[in-house]
Amino acid sequence: MPVRRTKRGEERTPLSSEHDVLICGASFAGLAVARELAGSGADVLVIDRYEIGERQTSACGIPTGWLSALGLEGSARQEFDTLVIHTPHGTSRYRLPFTFTTFDYRELCELLWEQSDARFETAKVEGRSADAESGIVVHTDRGDLTAPLIVDALGWRRVLASNGYQPPDAPLSRGLEVHPDGGSNDLEIWIDRRYVPAGYGWSFPARGEQRIGVGSFDPRIHVKETTVLLAEDLDRPPVRYQGNWIPHKLRGAAEDGVFFAGDSAGHCLPLTAEGIRTALYFGIACGRQLRAVIEGRKTREQALSDYAEFSDSHEWKFRWMLRVQKLVPRLPARAQRLLIATVGRQRLIDWSFGHYLKIAPPEFAGAAPAPSRERELSAAA
Ligand SMILES: Cc1cc2nc3c(=O)[nH]c(=O)nc-3n(C[C@H](O)[C@H](O)[C@H](O)COP(=O)(O)OP(=O)(O)OC[C@H]3O[C@@H](n4cnc5c(N)ncnc54)[C@H](O)[C@@H]3O)c2cc1C
Repeated sequence: MPVRRTKRGEERTPLSSEHDVLICGASFAGLAVARELAGSGADVLVIDRYEIGERQTSACGIPTGWLSALGLEGSARQEFDTLVIHTPHGTSRYRLPFTFTTFDYRELCELLWEQSDARFETAKVEGRSADAESGIVVHTDRGDLTAPLIVDALGWRRVLASNGYQPPDAPLSRGLEVHPDGGSNDLEIWIDRRYVPAGYGWSFPARGEQRIGVGSFDPRIHVKETTVLLAEDLDRPPVRYQGNWIPHKLRGAAEDGVFFAGDSAGHCLPLTAEGIRTALYFGIACGRQLRAVIEGRKTREQALSDYAEFSDSHEWKFRWMLRVQKLVPRLPARAQRLLIATVGRQRLIDWSFGHYLKIAPPEFAGAAPAPSRERELSAAA
């Protein structure tokens, strides 16, 4: 279990209220926004209910190119060039045109954080209101905060929006995994109704730890029993649980003066439930818009509108993936197997996975800024 480092009781003193940028949420999306603002000179405050990296939010598998593009290789645990897909009627091995890597959540968050020069405080965001004088006010358990530029990177709850989601009646998938010790050389998924009628099971090894889970596209289907079943089938104990809701539909990326990035904007890809690189990708895009405002190149309203337009321009890709997410579970098991075997021809794998990567390509990240400590040293020299 992660060690709790979050401030409690008397340590939770009120926060100073005004900043240039307020980023709510310090996971993939929020930290990517903060990284993009490094060196801008703005007073950036990042808040999260937990310390940075304290609560792992996923199986932490990502195309390796994203780790290199952001200078986060130090957090890598295990690299895979093949995806193994099991169905009740056979197994396919897809040799991928790019590799996937599992990483350590805390280490990745800390490395990303080192690249920013923002300040961090733990605080629980409780909601927002509009104030004629100070604009948007974000209510937290450590007081009210305001800033001309506010980002909601708080995950699927979209706390700063007026239209929240209530599972299970929302376009959300459900994911649960266990983290036993152990190992394997394969990145594996199971498309098998024994584990889930619509969705998939997975095993993501991470050098000494195996992240075994089940995701259901239908939020009403519980996956605890079948997560245990999959772990037992793999001869691993079901220990160290971690689960969450996963959005599978895009939502407005700008609303009522607030920028939304990552799961809060539904930026997680349908079908695969891959949401880390998209959270990084849209977090970077959001950070670039904020930077344009800070540097006087855009008004806040222009930045909100351009960012929303950028996010919307990906809508058709998300829609297509959602269609496939809905189609595959409806096929009989033998037809699923046939489809997987057909896509398994190397040219089709290269084509489909190449396009898949291009939805949020690592080149978008650009060059990694020097870690903040290095920047301070070079400034002092
Ligand atoms: C079981 C499971 C496995 C997954 N595996 C993968 C995978 O291997 N690869 C992949 O690409 N995607 C995976 N995903 C999806 C991925 O985890 C998400 O898409 C991704 O975490 C989204 O990043 P984010 O920064 O938008 O939000 P989150 O990672 O959810 O971060 C939200 C942050 O906001 C904070 N927060 C929330 N509410 C409040 C509040 N009220 N006040 C203050 N702080 C708050 C949280 O503490 C957290 O730090 C998985 C999801 C699940 C559930």
